Amino acid sequence: MEAGDRLITKIDHVGIAVASIDEAMVTYRALGLEIEVIEEVPHEGVRVAMLVCGESRIELLEPTSEDSPIARFLERKGPGIHHLCLGTDDIRAADDELREAGLQLLRPEPTRGAGGCWVQFLHPRSAGGVLLELSQPADDALSDEETE
Ligand code: ZN
Repeated sequence: MEAGDRLITKIDHVGIAVASIDEAMVTYRALGLEIEVIEEVPHEGVRVAMLVCGESRIELLEPTSEDSPIARFLERKGPGIHHLCLGTDDIRAADDELREAGLQLLRPEPTRGAGGCWVQFLHPRSAGGVLLELSQPADDALSDEETE
């Protein structure tokens, strides 16, 4: 990172665990929000609906299998806010900085998430009880070969 570069560019989205996207949409439609895209992420056992909310988004997470992290979250805590996602233009730099700061990341390296974004998570233990997601948009210079 160069001095003055900002690692985090914005609040990208808020992730909300729901038992049913359809049921949750009754509330969000009443607020005038619509689903931009709906996608299944099989390796996470989750169906994801993205709602555009001005410059930011709301991500509804519905479990598709009983052992998915979202199913376990619903069991433990019930529906509600699951994570806060911060946008970055350089997820590798963010990953490095956080490791250097001694913070606990959930994955050994950034992985592909919904929409092809590169994502990494900061453990709630290292973030005041909040699961923080970092996300870099898909249309970037990283290719699958560069994920070593
Ligand atoms: Zn998310």
